[in-house]
This record gives sequence, C-alpha cells and structure tokens, in this order.
Amino acid sequence: PPGTPLLQVRDLNAYYGQSHVLHGVNLHVNPGEVVSLIGRNGAGKTTTLKSIMGVLRSRTGQITFGGQDIARLPSHKVAARGLAWVPEERAILGTLSVKENLELPPARSGGWTTERAYEAFPVLRERGHHPGSKLSGGEQQMLAIVRVLRSGPKLLLLDEPSEGLAPVIVQAIGRIIAELQREGLSVLLVEQNLKFATRLADRHYVFVDGEVVDEVRREDVPARQADLLRYLSV
Ligand code: ATP
Repeated sequence: PPGTPLLQVRDLNAYYGQSHVLHGVNLHVNPGEVVSLIGRNGAGKTTTLKSIMGVLRSRTGQITFGGQDIARLPSHKVAARGLAWVPEERAILGTLSVKENLELPPARSGGWTTERAYEAFPVLRERGHHPGSKLSGGEQQMLAIVRVLRSGPKLLLLDEPSEGLAPVIVQAIGRIIAELQREGLSVLLVEQNLKFATRLADRHYVFVDGEVVDEVRREDVPARQADLLRYLSV
C-alpha cells in the first residue's frame, strides 16, 4: 500500500561472538529515497548493512522489504528480492578484466547491460580489457556499483562509496547516485563524508555506539549542521 516503506528495520540487535554491537536499531527507507547512515568508525553502520543483507546472521529483530520478511533469508535470496550491496572493500575481481567483471554477475530483466555501464562510465569502456586490480580507486568504485546494477535492484546499499577518492571522482560518484535516484532506485548509504552525504541524502540516521541516536531530514540539515559535525568528530 502507498506509504509503506521499501525497507523497514525494527529492533535490530547484532553480535560478533560474545560482542553485542547493534542495540535495537530502527530505520526505514521509503521508495525512491536516498538515506544515509552516518557516524564515527565502529559505530555499527557496516554491521547494519551486513545484517540487512543476511551476510551477518547472528542478529535479531525484524527486517522487511516491500512488506515481506527477509530476516530469515540467506543473502543470495535477499539479493534476489532486489537488494544489492557494494561493500567497503568494493569486491571486484582483480584478476579479471573490467568487461569480465561486468559480465560475470547474471543479468536480470531491468538490470544494467554492459553497454549501459559503459555509457554511464565511459572510462570503464576505455579500460575494458584491463584487469580490475589495475584500476584506480574511483574506477573500482564505479565498476563495483555498475556490477551490482546488473541484477536490476530496487535498493542499493553502498558502504562508504567516497572513501579514499579524489574530490572530482567523489563528485562523479555523487552524480551517478543522484541519477539512479531519478530513475527510481532507492539508496541506503554509509558515509563519514558529511558534505557528500548531505548533498545526496533525503534523510540521515546518526549512529553512536551501535544505536541510532538522531535522525535529520534534508530540510533540517542547515540548522543541525553543528550537531552533525559533532557526531562525526573524533
Ligand atoms: P567502519 O566505518 O569502521 O566500518 P562502522 O560504523 O561501519 O565503522 P562496524 O564496522 O559496523 O562500524 O563495527 C561495529 C562494531 O563491531 C565495532 O566495535 C567493531 O570493532 C566491531 N566489529 C566489526 N566487525 C567485526 C568482526 N568481524 N568481529 C568482531 N567485531 C567486529
């Protein structure tokens, strides 16, 4: 029904062995929204993405996607429902060429073709026969994003897409995220780069020590700028 969030996470608790790292996280992403998770290193943002994808299985709570429970599904079935995750380490295949990297994930209807990827990122066409390991950090990030778009996801989970990239590349990645949103994709973004996050996201959840301590909407960012900076400062 209208007004139903695309993704809803309720009372998420997550554990690494004996260590309890997420303490009752609640969040949602509406259809077509870009939402950011911000906070210092170790605050639990990556763990939240892994919990949603079912990569981290030692967790409790409710996770629904399009109103359906996905918390018990293995990660490949979560992906098949329309979620795609680009991990922080970008997970491209270093020994395979750019073209092979693009063509390995199965294409699904509505997903990006290799040609579409090359149109969005002409540099990938130029580098088509280079091994993934020889790409720059920015090129690897572009490749990692377009690879997961092969499956035609509805929600893209991006873990620190701007990390370690030159400002001009950060801008290029930002433009693509904005374009994907215009095409109807929803995005859940982990970021420590506040400028990048606030340009792109409609809403922000602030993580401190495994909890969501604040939520800031785009229109409130100017008034809350000092708070946001304080949350991220070490
Ligand atoms: P970062 O930007 O550094 O990834 P984050 O906010 O995403 O930060 P998480 O990576 O989710 O934070 O980490 C949350 C907590 O869980 C931290 O205390 C971290 O040390 C711990 N942690 C993360 N991965 C593991 C693991 N594989 N085993 C044990 N503890 C872990």
